[in-house]
Amino acid sequence: MKPRGWEIVERVKAGETLVFDGGYGTMLFAAGLLNGACPEVWNDTHPDVVRGIHRGYYEAGSHLVETNTFGGTRLKLNEYKIGDRTRELNVKGARLARAVAPPTGYVAGSIGPTSRLPVDYALDEGVTDEEYEATFKEQAEALVEGGVDVFAVETMMFPQEATAAIRACKAVADLPVMATMFFQFEEMHDRDRTMWGESPGDVARSLLAAGADVVGMNCGRGPDRAIVIIREMRKVTDAPLVAYPNAGLPITTGDTVTYELGPEAMAQEYPALLDAGCNIVGACCGSNPEHIRRIAEVVRSRKK
Ligand SMILES: [Zn+2]
Repeated sequence: MKPRGWEIVERVKAGETLVFDGGYGTMLFAAGLLNGACPEVWNDTHPDVVRGIHRGYYEAGSHLVETNTFGGTRLKLNEYKIGDRTRELNVKGARLARAVAPPTGYVAGSIGPTSRLPVDYALDEGVTDEEYEATFKEQAEALVEGGVDVFAVETMMFPQEATAAIRACKAVADLPVMATMFFQFEEMHDRDRTMWGESPGDVARSLLAAGADVVGMNCGRGPDRAIVIIREMRKVTDAPLVAYPNAGLPITTGDTVTYELGPEAMAQEYPALLDAGCNIVGACCGSNPEHIRRIAEVVRSRKK
């Protein structure tokens, strides 16, 4: 029997639109996470807070909720000198989301960048493809042990790192992989590119070639650019597409960061995002369950 996570791909291919979740950072900070502290440690020290955020998203209408394991590779955890807790923090993270998932809900294992440059770009101590794959495999194995249904390889900056993460997930388990990259809007050229110059079409093709089942964008700017990026990706593939952009740009006033788009303003952009061919929609930095509730309403209202 195929693992249940494959339903996500089947449902989308059958024409359904699914709702992803929203941001975690803002809510963890609001709950007391200190700037510069490791968010994944809260899977151990503050399980109630993390479970509460997951629950909030499921209740808001998310079909998929992702684990608090974005920085959960050994390479990233080593920045906090806790690389030896890699397995523990990922297993715990997956279990927290699983524990509050409704029977119909899916848990996506979040896998973010290592913050280490690939060997081709780094002046020294760059990471090789083999090292990337090893660190992502270790994380993916722990996420599977904790019970995830699907992997969410996300906010990737370099294609090498993204494709290594996809290959690692595929080597570890027969689960679908969603893979999304971070795009910058190059205002001068009126186009969206990764940090290293790939177009949305290039990205869709290379992530699919690496084995991803769902591809798209997350973080970056707001839904206005997500619409354009998804449209570009849709030109080159029939594969399921996902977008979970930020709630616009961050606005810093003193010590506090807010984001341009409130729930209503953000949700207004989603009919166009769905028209562009997006199959799974959510939100990233600066969003909260209220954003997702409005986005889920848009998705429901378009159901025939
Ligand atoms: Zn983000």
